Order: sequence, then structure tokens, then C-alpha cells
Amino acid sequence: MLLSDLQTGEEGVVIRVAGHGHFRKRIIEMGFVKGVKVKSILNAPLNDPIKYRIMNFEVSLRRNDASKVEIVTLEEAEEWLKKDIIEQPPLPCDDRPAVERLAEIRTHTINVALVGNPNCGKTSIFNIAAHAHEQVGNYSGVTVDEKVGTFQYGGYTFNLTDLPGTYSLSAYSPEELYVRKHLIEKMPDIILNVVDGSNLERNLYLTTQLIDMDITIVMALNMYDELKKSGDNLDIEQLSTLLGMPIVPTTGRSGEGINLLFDKIIEVFEGRDTITRHIHVNHGSDLESCIRQLRTELYEHGFSDKLSTRFLAIKLLENDKQLEDYANQHDPDGSVITMRNQIAEGFQKSSGRRLVKNTEDSGHKVDVETEHQDIESAITDAKYSFIRGALAEVYQKNTKSNPHSLTDKIDVLVTNKWLGYPFFLIFLFITFFFTFAIGQYPMDWIDSLFSWFGDTVSNAMPDGPLRSLIVDGIISGVGSVIVFLPNILILYLFISFMEDSGYMARAAFIMDKLMHRMGLHGKSFIPMIMGFGCNVPAVMATRTIEDRKSRLLTMLIIPMMSCSARIPTYMILVGAFFNRHAALILTGLYVFGMIMSVVMAKLFSKYFVKGESLPFVMELPPYRMPTSKAVLRHTWEKGKEYLKKMATIILAASVIIWALGYFPNHNRYDTAKEQMENSYLGNIGKVIEPVMKPCGFDWRQSVSLLAGTAAKEVVASTMGVLYASAEEEAIIEEEGFESDEGSLRISQLVRNNMTPLSAASMLIFILLYMPCFSTIIAIKNESGKWKWALFTVCYTIVLAWIVSTLFYQIGMLII
Ligand code: GDP
Ligand code: MG
Repeated sequence: MLLSDLQTGEEGVVIRVAGHGHFRKRIIEMGFVKGVKVKSILNAPLNDPIKYRIMNFEVSLRRNDASKVEIVTLEEAEEWLKKDIIEQPPLPCDDRPAVERLAEIRTHTINVALVGNPNCGKTSIFNIAAHAHEQVGNYSGVTVDEKVGTFQYGGYTFNLTDLPGTYSLSAYSPEELYVRKHLIEKMPDIILNVVDGSNLERNLYLTTQLIDMDITIVMALNMYDELKKSGDNLDIEQLSTLLGMPIVPTTGRSGEGINLLFDKIIEVFEGRDTITRHIHVNHGSDLESCIRQLRTELYEHGFSDKLSTRFLAIKLLENDKQLEDYANQHDPDGSVITMRNQIAEGFQKSSGRRLVKNTEDSGHKVDVETEHQDIESAITDAKYSFIRGALAEVYQKNTKSNPHSLTDKIDVLVTNKWLGYPFFLIFLFITFFFTFAIGQYPMDWIDSLFSWFGDTVSNAMPDGPLRSLIVDGIISGVGSVIVFLPNILILYLFISFMEDSGYMARAAFIMDKLMHRMGLHGKSFIPMIMGFGCNVPAVMATRTIEDRKSRLLTMLIIPMMSCSARIPTYMILVGAFFNRHAALILTGLYVFGMIMSVVMAKLFSKYFVKGESLPFVMELPPYRMPTSKAVLRHTWEKGKEYLKKMATIILAASVIIWALGYFPNHNRYDTAKEQMENSYLGNIGKVIEPVMKPCGFDWRQSVSLLAGTAAKEVVASTMGVLYASAEEEAIIEEEGFESDEGSLRISQLVRNNMTPLSAASMLIFILLYMPCFSTIIAIKNESGKWKWALFTVCYTIVLAWIVSTLFYQIGMLII
């Protein structure tokens, strides 16, 4: 009987709480645990919530929640007792009240459903466990409907249901529908997922769908004899941690492992096992955001109690007709389905990809076709990526495996223990080479365009504040940043390509061991690489890291990953002093940032970020040659953000910096240099100069760095404004201007006002010091706490100051 049916004044004993996730947890936390006595105080038909007395205090429970609690009542017990006496004598020396005895029996009853692919050995296990003689056959479709077997084991009564074999839980075949219906409506206590150990990849696909349903699963790794015979190596313990479910090896033919299997089921049923946890099969950020969106909609329509909303959302996105009907029944105005259609359409539009297919039979033939991937097949792909990732970690094939798919062939090379790293370094080097060396040419064109533009405006306008605002403020400031657009686009082009092709996931995979030593996870690596583009999406990408500790750590160290907004300043400083060794110095800087991030991660994981980190699966999607269209679109989307920043933050900052430098008393001084020094800006610079002096910075550098806290490009634009005003002095060295082609105008201005050592120190400071505002906000949002955002600000500033100071002071001693 259900708790919601308990009439006012009646009593009962709780025997089971159904449902899942935090809804179930909430009910249990209110005190509705097995064996507890509960009395209904007020339950009128239209009353919601219902009032109960439990353990001497009153609680009210929504009718909906109460219907998930199963109880036995006094009446039921009495009836049972009567029957009991007639049919079988009551147990001797048991003088407890009937209701307690009945409750005891009921709470020691475990409903188990066998779920698995056809032919994986479900019926064999069923027969051994239930001492039954159902037909076992080596072809699929033997079990057409369910068979229930009841038996006693370990002090418990098991109701074991043998369900038809299925490859999936979609609504395509009657078997699939049947199994799904059973799981949803009968809500077995434990799902026994039988898996053919000699065919793991295909079998685990069903497992990923069971995981989506958020139900309690125990896995029987069947055909274990064959797995052993094949000589393949499977790390069962690791796999069960990754999947969040206990796995017991069994041999259905001989019965080996079956007792251990049911021991494990009892352990899980009683909540004594430590491995069971609810994991999410990660479908990749695009799909996950689709799922999240639809899930929110489902929550709002009150879909939360019968089915896991995550499962429902995924199935709806897969176009599941049956669940679509179910959704429509509960949401007659159809807004859920409308939403689903919008999401699916949006996804398909944005997924222009070229599939590299390998036709199985011809072995080597490679088909290349362009297609828009629909969301349904994208979900299937993501699930196989998850499985491939899990197996790559725990499974070694015995034979010198001859991989047949293209993906396998590439993976043999790219994820090789030794070859993987050089491959990765080569990819990284190519990326930076193109970004900086090839990017130089368009950069020079844009630079000369802007200086021509500045000169033209300068000649066309009369002297005065307006001309100064336009030429020295806007054109200098914005121009000094916009010239780097080509570099940034090239960098994004490479990052997009690595992401879309599937290589990034492999890079993460080979980095996993290394990352673990620093308290991070291989998956941290993708956000870190993305950080080279921009720290904000990088911080958001940490969402794919399931483990809280690794996620937080990754977020905290992302600011050390040198984002593209810092490129302008690097180029100015490197161009001014170290032009000969530009590539070397820049690569060195990036590497230094990575080393610092690693050191910090190690430090934080030891002292600040506490907690165990749990292993989880890294997905390995199949390789795809991304379409140029998709890569270009991703690149452009990011480039657009950059331009938008130009038109807003950087434009505003340039004007403000210009004004602070122009006023007050503009006409009182003879030289621009004197004017600058006595302006508001000069004064601010002078105030902070003493603090920055140990790092080797004068007031101009200090002001630039201060301004850069808004956005890192502003360091460059501020330098553009500040040093442009020093042009008068620099013009004397006009010849130097012409003779040094390929070097930026602003670099030449800087060269006259800074020492190489101080410039190098500034490079380090910019690399390390506080992230821009947007990144700080992103860290706050993703970590959920201001604490961590502020922590990041503080530690980066302190770190930058210490390292720059050490560098500068030691440099002074040597030089
Ligand atoms: P079902 O379709 O999942 O119910 O699978 P069955 O129980 O009908 O078994 C299919 C075939 O696999 C039968 O021929 C069984 O004898 C065989 N089988 C079941 N379990 C094992 C096992 O652990 N090892 C081996 N080698 N064969 C098994
Ligand atoms: Mg069967």
C-alpha cells in the first residue's frame, strides 16, 4: 500500500521509498526510512500536503511524494496473519506484532530486473539463481516476455525478473519498449545489467542509457570465462569506479560468480556498498547544454517525479515517439515539445561536419561526406565516445590488435605512450608558428593602415583637444589592439580545428597521467588549451570536468594560461627589444605560464582545495575532418567577440586614458612628456610607482598595467596612448623608424622609454597578474562563490609581483 492512501488516524510501517535522485533523498531525510512507524494525522481527499506523525514529530508531505512511499498497515498485517495461520504456521518464538513481522519480511524482499543485450546470458543467470529451467539459446529473441522467479538467498527474498534482450532503450522495437516500461512502471529495486564481457563496447551502450535513467544498477560481467581465455586485460575495479556501479564477473554457463553477484546486490540494496554513485554520461558541451535547457523546461512543468528528467530530456531529443506522447499528456499546451523542436533544429543547424567514414567490409575505403548531424545520431555518437574513452583507460586487447577503423588507426599513433607527446608538441608548435610568424604579415598591413589613417586625420584637422582625442586617444588606443586581430583569428582557427576534429580529446587523454600528479584531471587540459584563446570560455569549459575538486583547481589556474588578449602587449614589448628571438621568447612565455599553472595547481591541491577526486571517463569521439565552414564559423564567432570588445571596453578605456593624460592644464607645458607626467594619469602613476618599482616599472608601465585589469588588451591600448604622446621626442630619431621595417611603430616608441630588462619583467607580470573582469565573473559563476574569484585575483597579483621582482632584481645584479 502507498503512504498517500493511508487514511486519517491509520498507522503503518515504511518498507520502501521509490523514486530517484534528490527527490528520494529529500523524503528519506524527512525520516521516511525503512521500518519506521508512521501515522496519518490529516488526509482529506483534496488536502495537499498530507500531515503525518513520524518518530514523535509531525511532518507534512506532498501527496505526490507520499505516493512514492510504500508501507504495510495494521489491517494488511492482520489479514496476512490470518492467511499465514491457515496456509503456513507462523514462525516459532516470534511474538512481535504482526505488522512488524510483515514489515520485516517486506523490507527483506528485493525486486531485481535482468537487463542486457540479447544473448549475453541473462536467462542462464536467471536459471542458476532461481533454480529454474527456462530455455537458453545461442540466438537472439529467445526470451519474448518476462519470467519471474522467486527464491531465498542470504536472508532475503528475491523476485528476479528476466526481461527480453535489448540493445537500447529506444522505442523502436517491442522488446525495447517492454523493458523500458517495466523499469519505469515496476520500479525494481535493483537493475541487474548483464554484460557480455567479450563484446564490451556494444554492450555498454545499453548501460549508458540505464545510467541516464538514474536507477540503481549492479553489473554482471558475464562470459567472464571467454574474456579470460582471450587474454585481454580488463581493470574491473577501475571500470566500476568510472561507471559508478559495482561490477561482478560471472560465468552464466557454470554459475561461477553468481553467489558473489547476489551478495553484492544485497549490499547495494542495504546501502552498504561504496562504489554506487550517480554519474552523468557526458555528451559534450553542445549536447549537454541542449539537455540542460530542455530539462529546465521539464522541471518547470513538474515532470520531476516519475522519470529522471535527464533521461526524459535525452529521449525527447532523440525523437522518442512514446515519451513524446507521455510529455504531451502531462503538458497539453505542447510547450515542451515546441521547445524540443527548437533545440533540435538549432543543434542541427550549428553542426555542419564532414564525416570521415570507414566502410567496414572494404576495409580501407574512406568515405567523405558532408552532412548536418541530427541530434539523435549526435547523442549516439557521444555515448560511444564515452564508452571508447572508458575502455581506453581500463581495457587492453591481447593480440597485437590490428585496428580496422580509421579512428583506431590514428589513435594507435596519437595516443601511444611514447609517440603521443612529440605529436602533441608538434601540433602546438605549428599552432604558435602560424599564429605569430604568419600572422606578422597581415599585422604589419593593418599597422601601416592605422598609422596612415592617424597621419591623415592629423594633417586634416586643426590642432586642439579634438584632434588629440581622435589621433592620440582613439586611433592610437584602438589601433594598437586591432592590429592583432589576424594573430588572434589564426590562433582560434587552430583551436577550433583541434576541437572539432577530435584531436583535443586525445591530447587530454595522453596528458591524463601527468595531470593527475598535480591534482588535476586529463580533462582539465582542454579548458587550459582553450585558455590560450580566451580565459572566459575556458573557465566555462571546466563544466565538463565531473569531479568538483579538479574543476575548481582548473578554474583557479586558467588565468596563467596566456590568453590572446595579452598578445598585443607581448608583441609590442617583444617587438621593441627582442625582435630577433621573438618566437623563442613568446613560446618561452607560454610555457612559463603553463609551468606556473602546474606549480600552483600542486600547491592549491595540497593546501587550499580539499577533497577526494574521483576518476571519471574521458570521451574519445571518432575523428572527423571538420568542414571548413564549421571551423571558419567557430573562428569568426570568437573574432567577432574581439571586435565587439574593441568597440566597447577598449574604445572607452582609450578615451578615458587619453582624457586622464590630456588634462588638466594642457597648455601649460612645453613638451608632451612634461604634460603627461603632470596629468591626472601621471599622478596616478606616481602614486602606484613606488609599489611597482621593485619590479622595474615606471609610472607609464604601472598605469598601463592598472588599466589592463578591465581587459588585457587595454594594457596595449594604454601604452599606445601613453607612448604616442612621447612621439615628439621620438620623431627626432625619424631615421630609425624607416630603417626598421616589420617592427611596429608603437614598439619603436616603447624602445625609447624602457629598458629591455624592465620590458622582460613586464612580460612576466602581464602573463601572471590578475585576470580581466569577465574572467573573474566567470570564475565566480562557475565556482558559485565570490570567495574563489577573489582568491584568484589576490594570488595572481601577489605571484606576479613576486616573480617579476625576483626577475628584475636578479637581472639588475647580473647586468
Ligand atoms: P540471453 O539471451 O541473454 O537470455 O542469453 P542466454 O542465457 O540464452 O545465453 C546465450 C548463450 O550464451 C547460451 O548458449 C549460453 O549457454 C551461453 N552463455 C551464457 N553465459 C555464458 C558464460 O558466462 N560463458 C559462456 N562461455 N557462455 C555463456
Ligand atoms: Mg534469454
